[in-house]
Amino acid sequence: MEFQIAVIPGDGIGPEIVTEAMKILDKVGEVYGHTFTYKKLLMGGASIDAYGVPLTEETLEAAKNSDSVLLGAVGGNVGTSRWYQGPPETRPEAGLLGIRKGLELFANIRPAWLYRELADACPLKTEIVGEKGFDMVIMRELTGGLYFGERHTTVENGVRKAVDTLVYDENEIRRIAVKAFEIAAKRSGKVTSVDKANVLDSSRLWRAVVDETAREYPGIQVEHMLVDNAAMQLVMDPGQFDVVLTENMFGDILSDEASEITGSIGMLPSASLGKTKLGLYEPSHGSAPDIAGKDIANPIATILSAAMMLRYSFDLDREADAVEAAVQQALTDGYRTGDIYSEGCRKVGTREMGSVIAGYIR
Ligand code: NAD
Repeated sequence: MEFQIAVIPGDGIGPEIVTEAMKILDKVGEVYGHTFTYKKLLMGGASIDAYGVPLTEETLEAAKNSDSVLLGAVGGNVGTSRWYQGPPETRPEAGLLGIRKGLELFANIRPAWLYRELADACPLKTEIVGEKGFDMVIMRELTGGLYFGERHTTVENGVRKAVDTLVYDENEIRRIAVKAFEIAAKRSGKVTSVDKANVLDSSRLWRAVVDETAREYPGIQVEHMLVDNAAMQLVMDPGQFDVVLTENMFGDILSDEASEITGSIGMLPSASLGKTKLGLYEPSHGSAPDIAGKDIANPIATILSAAMMLRYSFDLDREADAVEAAVQQALTDGYRTGDIYSEGCRKVGTREMGSVIAGYIR
């Protein structure tokens, strides 16, 4: 099969890690008989330097016309970079918000799992993580809720008052619930929907719509959990979760908590999906300007993002499994970039890690 991928290297370590992900895709193409073609696009600081804005219409159009988008990361050193001298909408990260909105991506998926080989980096006690470790995905609604509601600040009788509104309609909830059930069907078949239904109307609607959607997926187990309990359960018994489905702000917080308990941010991929098969795939970490250009960045989060692209945008599950297995093999054989290095392992740079993983693709 043939796929056209829009590749946005971005800033900082972005170009280095994206190059390694393309190396892996090329190897998958060779082994499984697919052709991946790449259209390189600028976004973030690189686009500001070239065109004066973080995202051009042309870049957005080219992304829309591709089968999927692979992104490195955008942004520079916030304290010193000239990219941060103007208002928020002129900064590199505005490109990210613009492309998510332009591509109508409403579901953000961030997996968090623990590799046995990296268990030392996990801040949780061994008896909590247990033998089986954990392997979950957090599904966060991306375009509604508190971050997109009306807001204003007023002064009444000399007292400042700020208001933010949290709005969801049932269609916004249903479309992400459907995604969560579809993804659970490809995994262990359990959805934990997280809300604050004991307090919020928007959460009560969320719960009702998730239950209605669940009737269409009889094979999937559904449970509801209050967000405060979910935050606690994540550090007390992370192994209980498979797909965690939640609204925008709860998802923002819980997905950061979940990645933190893996102890290795350079390992975690992410995907943003919409109604169609077109998705945006990027590592969970940022552009790491402090280590850019040194061939020391860990490319695994980006490589695993490419694996998610194979699985969710192209329905190439076997090929995605092969990439994940190759990453596992590299870790089992002791290859480590500096961020995940421990004594007795073999320290490699960005490029070598990519080549080692490519070599394990079967
Ligand atoms: P960061 O994730 O870039 O870096 C945090 C720390 O983790 C740094 O010490 C960095 O060296 C390290 N690190 C990150 N990725 C790594 C990797 N693959 N291998 C090894 N070490 C890695 O977060 P930050 O420093 O807060 O942000 C830096 C820039 O990235 C900022 O401009 C920020 O706005 C931007 N950012 C972009 C995205 C995105 O593009 N989606 C996300 C977060 C931050």
